Amino acid sequence: MPERLKPLLEANRQWAAEMERKRPGFFTRLAQQQNPRYMWIGCADSRVPANEITGLDPGEVFVHRNVANVVVHSDLNALSTIQFAVEHLKVEHIIVVGHYGCAGVRAAMRGMRIGLADNWLRHVQDVRLRHRKRLEHLPAQAQEDALCEMNVIEQVGNVALSTVVQDCWARGQPLALHGWVYAVTDGLLKDLGVTMKAPEHVIPVFGAAIKRYPRPPAATAGSEDDSTFGPGVVPAP
Ligand SMILES: [Zn+2]
Repeated sequence: MPERLKPLLEANRQWAAEMERKRPGFFTRLAQQQNPRYMWIGCADSRVPANEITGLDPGEVFVHRNVANVVVHSDLNALSTIQFAVEHLKVEHIIVVGHYGCAGVRAAMRGMRIGLADNWLRHVQDVRLRHRKRLEHLPAQAQEDALCEMNVIEQVGNVALSTVVQDCWARGQPLALHGWVYAVTDGLLKDLGVTMKAPEHVIPVFGAAIKRYPRPPAATAGSEDDSTFGPGVVPAP
């Protein structure tokens, strides 16, 4: 056992003892069944731990995390996790949570090459490309922050259009999707106003959320409204 890992196991023993002292039978009950109402789809960044920042205990939130909180329609890992959450655990809310200062989003915005993840972050670059007229006129930091938020909005749209969620809504199972962004600088979450509870919400809610990032007047004149196409569509450059 490396010396550096020993404090983690010691802290674990103390945590488990403290939980059992404060709430006798906590682990025995939890061992029977998990019954979370929430699913969290977030970035793998170590500064954004789902349970801690929402005050939730073990058993209360079902979590999927990856680099830059991306939901891709061919990602069997994410889709399987969403399916298990919706069809077996019957979560009532799926929350996609991005965060400011996301290294994945920053790399996508700057076109930085960081390795294998470049292919994964291509999805975030597609978001940037799609909404470039709403982004490029902003100062660099504001552009990066806006892309962190827009990436969440796009991923909420992708969750909404997944077969799992479409089937869930078609059979009348209640499920709400949400998009939040987290600030590592103050520990606060912000709701991005992209809550969807039914198939007919997807296009109007998505469009309204994207329109909160205005294009400069010159870019608006005579151009198509790229927010009416729905999530995931990348126009020709
Ligand atoms: Zn991140």
